Amino acid sequence: MIKISKLIHDYIKRDDEGNAAGTVRAIDGVDLQVEPGMFIAVLGHNGSGKSTLAKHLNALLFPTEGEVWVDGLDTREEKNLWEIRREAGMVFQNPDNQIIAQVVEEDVGFGPENIGVPTQEIWKRVEESLKAVGMYEYRKKSPNRLSGGQKQRVSIAGVIAMEPKCIIMDEPTAMLDPNGRKEVIKAAMKLNREKGITVILITHYMEEAINADKIFVMDKGKLAMQGTPKEIFSQVEKMKELNLDVPEVTLLAHELRKGGLDIPADILTKEELADALLGKAQSDPAGGSNGDQS
Ligand code: ADP
Ligand code: MG
Repeated sequence: MIKISKLIHDYIKRDDEGNAAGTVRAIDGVDLQVEPGMFIAVLGHNGSGKSTLAKHLNALLFPTEGEVWVDGLDTREEKNLWEIRREAGMVFQNPDNQIIAQVVEEDVGFGPENIGVPTQEIWKRVEESLKAVGMYEYRKKSPNRLSGGQKQRVSIAGVIAMEPKCIIMDEPTAMLDPNGRKEVIKAAMKLNREKGITVILITHYMEEAINADKIFVMDKGKLAMQGTPKEIFSQVEKMKELNLDVPEVTLLAHELRKGGLDIPADILTKEELADALLGKAQSDPAGGSNGDQS
């Protein structure tokens, strides 16, 4: 779906008068690939280059050096831009900046209408997209009356209505409450699993990356780590060096291991931790007091 090789991105720095005053290297030699149908999480602290990377996937930015290919299309070729932007839809952080129409269903239909999809087909797509994100019953409502999570799901429906192969979400949950975050992640997972849409989720919530097929970790414009959630989060110390957290449960398991408890290093969920601790308690009934304290 995506192939990036030797990507470098320099922004031009400007002084107060708007004159060019040097460059900032935001992406510094990144190579990566994403297979179709994958759910990818991208982690990295502020300024590590995540948003810049995302904008390359949608041909909103172009390589200073290196190449970005989206579904076999080179983003450097102007004739490909239209197709790339339809195939790889973007969802941004602030839902209020993405919704334009006064009625939910009109908002979702806006994209397809813009590219000349026939009316009959637009309504079919609007219905399907809203159902896919669980917002169909709100189709006649004003977006202003929705919660942040609901607005973000409408934004996602608007992207799906373009029938993309890939959705790139740049911290879509950053402005949402815990419930809204869950709704949005659930909707994204469902699209991935049921429609086979490739999802690239940029997030700073580690919990949202647990179910990804693969995680990319960015640091200072470089791809610092890549692997499955278990491979990434089990490296607690390395993640700390990169100024990143690991999921709370993984951290707890890590501390228990440091304390001498023989449990796996790659525990990601409460259930896995409970199983590991129960397994220990059963095989070692005398030594079970650690569980109570945690
Ligand atoms: P992230 O999304 O991980 O926070 P960004 O991709 O937004 O990181 O930024 C990477 C680096 O590029 C940062 O140092 C940031 O200050 C710089 N940067 C981002 N956008 C611009 C811009 N439009 N002009 C100049 N520098 C920028
Ligand atoms: Mg960003």
